[in-house]
Amino acid sequence: MLEGKVVIITGGTRGIGLETVKVFKENKAEVILFGSRKETVEEAISKLKEENMEVKGYYPNLDNPEEINKVIGEIIKEYGKIDVLINNAGISANKKIEDTTSEEFAKIMNLNVNAIFNMTKAVVPYMKQNNEGVILNTSSMVSIYGQPSGVGYPASKFAVNGLTKSLSRELAPFHIRVNAVAPGITKTDMVAALPKEMIEPLIKTIPLGRIGEPRDIANAFLFLASDLASYITGEILSVDGAARC
Ligand code: NAD
Repeated sequence: MLEGKVVIITGGTRGIGLETVKVFKENKAEVILFGSRKETVEEAISKLKEENMEVKGYYPNLDNPEEINKVIGEIIKEYGKIDVLINNAGISANKKIEDTTSEEFAKIMNLNVNAIFNMTKAVVPYMKQNNEGVILNTSSMVSIYGQPSGVGYPASKFAVNGLTKSLSRELAPFHIRVNAVAPGITKTDMVAALPKEMIEPLIKTIPLGRIGEPRDIANAFLFLASDLASYITGEILSVDGAARC
C-alpha cells in the first residue's frame, strides 16, 4: 500500500511507533525512525534487522528546530522527498494539579505539541514542492473526554487535535492531508508506567472487551497514509474499542 513512499515516524523506537514502522515496512515504504537517544535508536534498528527490515534512524532533539532541519536536509539529500510524516513521540502524566510543577507541564507540552509544530514546519516546504503529502499525529482518547488527573496530557492532546484540524485546512490547497489517530488504552510501556489500580478498572469498561494492541493503531495509520484515505483530511480517528473513560 505504500510502495515508493518515504516515511518519517517520530517515537519509532518502541510501542505504537515501532509497530507502525513494522506495518509500514510490510507495506513496502522506506521508513526513517526517530527516537530520543542514540542507544534506543540503534537498538530498534538492530531488532528490526533481525526481522529482515532495514530502516534508517535519527535522534534529533525535537525541541530544537536547527537540529531537526539538519536531519531533514540529510533525509532529503538521500531520498529526494518526504511523503509521510507521523508525529507520534509523546509522554503522559498522571499527577494531581497540586503535585505537578510548571516545568513538568511545560515538558509535556514541549514534546506532545511543540515538537509536532517543529517537525511539521521542517517538512512542509518539501511536501509543498511535491504538491502532495500526508501528516499524521498521534492524539489520544483523552483529547475528547479529558482525564481525572495529569491535566498536561489531555491538554496537549486537545492541542494536537487543534493543530490537526487547522493545518488540514491550511495545507489542503497543496494536497497535503493532515489527520490524527486517537488511540484508547494501548499495550505499550506508556501504559505499563501507569499504576495498575488506574489501568485495570479502565480496561474492564472497554466495550470491545480488551486493551488495544499497537498493531490496531499502526493499521489506522496505514489506512490514513494510503491512497484509500485520499479524500480524508482534518479527521481525528478514534481507535479505542468504544472506550469512554
Ligand atoms: P512509548 O512510551 O512506548 O513510546 C514513546 C515514544 O516516544 C518512544 O519511541 C520514545 O523514544 C519517544 N519519546 C519519548 N520522549 C521523547 C523525547 N523527549 N524526544 C523524542 N522522542 C521521545 O509510548 P506509546 O504508548 O507507544 O505512545 C506513542 C504515542 O501514542 C504517544 O504520543 C502517546 O501519547 C500516544 N498514546 C498512547 C496510548 C497508550 O495507551 N499507550 C493511548 C493514547 C495515545
